[in-house]
Amino acid sequence: MKILVTNDDGVYSPGLWAAVEALRDIAEVVVVAPDRELSGVGGSVTLHSPVRAMEVEASKNGTVTYAVEGTPADCVILAMEKLVGKVDLLVSGINKGANVGADVLISGTVGAALQGYARDVPSVAISVAALKATRFDTAAQLLRGVAEQVQQGSLVPPLLLNINLPDVPPEEINGIEVTRLAQRSFIGTVSEGDDGRRPYYWIARGKPKWRVRKGTDIWALRRRRCVSITPLHADMTAVRVLSSLKGLPAQLLPALRAEQAKEP
Ligand code: MN
Repeated sequence: MKILVTNDDGVYSPGLWAAVEALRDIAEVVVVAPDRELSGVGGSVTLHSPVRAMEVEASKNGTVTYAVEGTPADCVILAMEKLVGKVDLLVSGINKGANVGADVLISGTVGAALQGYARDVPSVAISVAALKATRFDTAAQLLRGVAEQVQQGSLVPPLLLNINLPDVPPEEINGIEVTRLAQRSFIGTVSEGDDGRRPYYWIARGKPKWRVRKGTDIWALRRRRCVSITPLHADMTAVRVLSSLKGLPAQLLPALRAEQAKEP
């Protein structure tokens, strides 16, 4: 079994190495990760400049490791198409900080995992719910369990699991819940300053605003103090809205027809 490990916290992040450590005796592990922290870049891909990848000489515990001057998604694309080739599992993490609710839209951890998912490779994004998380052992062991399920064929593509763990000692975790994404947004994310010449804005993590609905990832983490596992897919079609838009084409058609009727 071959496992690709990446992240958005950068190749030196302890969370990544905790994952490698837990996986390397059940599989061949290769690390391809950004050379710096790039949390929040989502699934962005570098299209306007070359992307360099450097094999890190002093790879930890002999694991082949590449540091990439690119985004988490770049790392997976490069790995799967050039540096590594076919893998049986993609792991993104272990991330410092939860990726719940709408976080998945900007999460570099999930952004990387989506590239594996799009290539039909079972993919896992895994995070510990504390920005200053230092406890990765439980997440690492859980990851090993997931890898074994993939190995045994009980988890098959298309598969993208977004896993979050509460940042508490293992004995305080009450269980594991399969969940759906919560509704969460942030307010007060923009602060303003002045560098002496002109004003600037800084977009930062604001105050989270959420409704804790039963069965959601935030509910599992905060109310139940459980591990949350949310299956994701890349189809963002708002299925429930489809029928309410039935009349829209007829309403818009006159504008289209008028434009078509104009002289070329
Ligand atoms: Mn991160």
